[in-house]
Amino acid sequence: MSQSAIQTVSPPMSAPMSLMERLNRSALNLGVPLSVHLDVTYRCNERCEHCYLEHDGDNELNTAEIRNYLQQIADAGTFFLTISGGEPLLRRDCFEIIEFARELGFNVKLKTNAVLIREKEALRLRELGVEQVQVSIYSHKPEVHDAITKLPGSLAKTLNGVRLMRAAGLKVTFANVLMRSNAGDNIGVQELAHQTGSQYTLDPTITPMLNGDSGVLDLRLPPEQLHELFHDERMVNNVSDFCAPPAPVDEEIREGIPCSAGHTSAYVSPWGLVYPCVQFPLPCGDLRQQTFSDIWKNSSQFSEVRSIRAKDLSTCSSCSHLGTCTRCPGLAFMEGSMRGPSSADCEKSFIRTGITTAGMLAGHAQSVRSSSNSQLIQIQL
Ligand code: SF4
Ligand code: SF4
Repeated sequence: MSQSAIQTVSPPMSAPMSLMERLNRSALNLGVPLSVHLDVTYRCNERCEHCYLEHDGDNELNTAEIRNYLQQIADAGTFFLTISGGEPLLRRDCFEIIEFARELGFNVKLKTNAVLIREKEALRLRELGVEQVQVSIYSHKPEVHDAITKLPGSLAKTLNGVRLMRAAGLKVTFANVLMRSNAGDNIGVQELAHQTGSQYTLDPTITPMLNGDSGVLDLRLPPEQLHELFHDERMVNNVSDFCAPPAPVDEEIREGIPCSAGHTSAYVSPWGLVYPCVQFPLPCGDLRQQTFSDIWKNSSQFSEVRSIRAKDLSTCSSCSHLGTCTRCPGLAFMEGSMRGPSSADCEKSFIRTGITTAGMLAGHAQSVRSSSNSQLIQIQL
């Protein structure tokens, strides 16, 4: 789940675009769902303390349904397909699904905890041409990782799976969600990633559960630790750029779209419900009732999401962070309005730069926790 700052609709005339930028731009102009994230199950063999899912497996899509919907998604022009869960390898037909997805020509990324990966599975994933495997690792210390996943021995099993996949020649990325219980372990996990020849990504975002329960938000890193993280050269490529005050908001930013959700990407649940993003629980249609293309083109919910420009946002449109904030419309939606601020992103913008956000001033960001008594410096009010 990546978050992005406001995306401008047309490129600056002078800036050369990368191939990916050109692909995204074309998909946006043509209304193509370039990327789809499919959760094939919410069942899982771990019980991570911060997980936003209920692990219900009733009435999941069967193999024939998934094949049918993948064909529809391919026909709609999708190229990037993320297969995730829950733990996707708990499905007996997981490799059949991946094989069919590859036959359709998707670029497949798999998200797994790798606990069930043995040599046979690693070799099969490589043979199928899976582009990348993302594995959640919370700590380099077994007692910390296993306490988070609530599965004894899980770090050892996961790392065994990682080594087998690397030996098979697969690209592996460590996804390191950082929270109170594993605060400070990011360097150890980063080293482990390097030792195994894997990429490393860090995410301090904890989201409410999809059933609305926000109790898990108490697990988020305290502001002081988030501040340390954002100012650590080992974690952030260029701290002075990352934490610099935002550039002035111009017309191009005001006309930009919040993110790719609903514009060039969509999410499909294990029951075939379609949403703008895995982190944006606005139901837009049901594949058991309608075709993917019908939902993508005609759903009133997708139309509403697509109609929003940065200048239309209720509080954020007047915020100095508008062009650089990672504001997630899905998190904002969970807080009450897809046009409102997301308090987690308000917090990040403030902690990065020390500059008060419009959301804080409007009282939206109650969860910009203890900002008045923290060590953070406000350089602009
Ligand atoms: S809704 Fe947008 S910003 Fe939020 S996680 Fe999805 S793509 Fe990222
Ligand atoms: S109000 Fe908050 S969420 Fe909105 S742009 Fe500003 S910092 Fe980001």
